[in-house]
Amino acid sequence: MEEIKPGVWIIHGENRGRFPFAHSLYLKGEHRALVDTGAGRGLLQLAGKVDRVYLSHYHRDHVAANSLFAGASFSIHPLDAPGLLSVEGFYRLTGLRGIGQPYWDTLNQKGFEATFAAGRHREGDRIDLGGLTLRVLHTPGHTPGHCAFLVEEYGLLFAADIDLSTFGPWYGNVSSDPEQLEESVQRLRMLKARVVVTSHSKPVTADIDRKMERYAAVIEQRHEMIYELLRRGAMTLERLIDLKPIYRRHPEPVSVYRFFEGMMLKKHLTILQNRGAVDYAGEEKLYHAR
Ligand SMILES: [Zn+2]
Repeated sequence: MEEIKPGVWIIHGENRGRFPFAHSLYLKGEHRALVDTGAGRGLLQLAGKVDRVYLSHYHRDHVAANSLFAGASFSIHPLDAPGLLSVEGFYRLTGLRGIGQPYWDTLNQKGFEATFAAGRHREGDRIDLGGLTLRVLHTPGHTPGHCAFLVEEYGLLFAADIDLSTFGPWYGNVSSDPEQLEESVQRLRMLKARVVVTSHSKPVTADIDRKMERYAAVIEQRHEMIYELLRRGAMTLERLIDLKPIYRRHPEPVSVYRFFEGMMLKKHLTILQNRGAVDYAGEEKLYHAR
């Protein structure tokens, strides 16, 4: 683990924090708190030494080692709690029921494990850890209850899966919302954070505003790319998925990545339809540019 500010450590996720791992944040004031439990082996040293666990959202790569902290109190945003508490809630929020086992394979997990999460955090909560203060920022879109956390004393933002990666924003669940996600990124820009730690990339200390702007802009670029594809010829959703405009490649298990590609495409197509840029001919199942 790396002390990034006095009393604040990054627990680096295995595989450089790439899925199915994620970086965690450990904070030691009078209370000892952990944000997310997806870092893998690096968390073993903290077993039994954490009083409170705050979860940025319900995704399994952020909650994988919850059972390691059985003595701690857990907290999650109310909108994401169903995805943590029951397999039904998880499938309802993700839409992954039909490809359950291939999905668990991507995580090297057997299946869904419920976590008892008694606590809920919400927008604007200021969590006093005794010497360190965590402010909760509800930043929906990736998931409905996705939250970022600001360590107020340092202007240090843990942005979770608003991860400023070159891939761009991710909204591949049935309950994800790219327009909300774009607003959430714009909101984080307003904070003028001095350091941004994310779940899957290196900490950012320079050009934060420009990097956030560029990250948010990927959503609009995808709209344009999909529109351009349809301008060349009408297409079914399946054909669009074959072209992989968002992922570029679909690793094994292919069914899972096709699902995510299709889900993200559908969200773009709905928005493009609402803008009047794309029409859908239901009988032929064809999308075409106007
Ligand atoms: Zn996530």
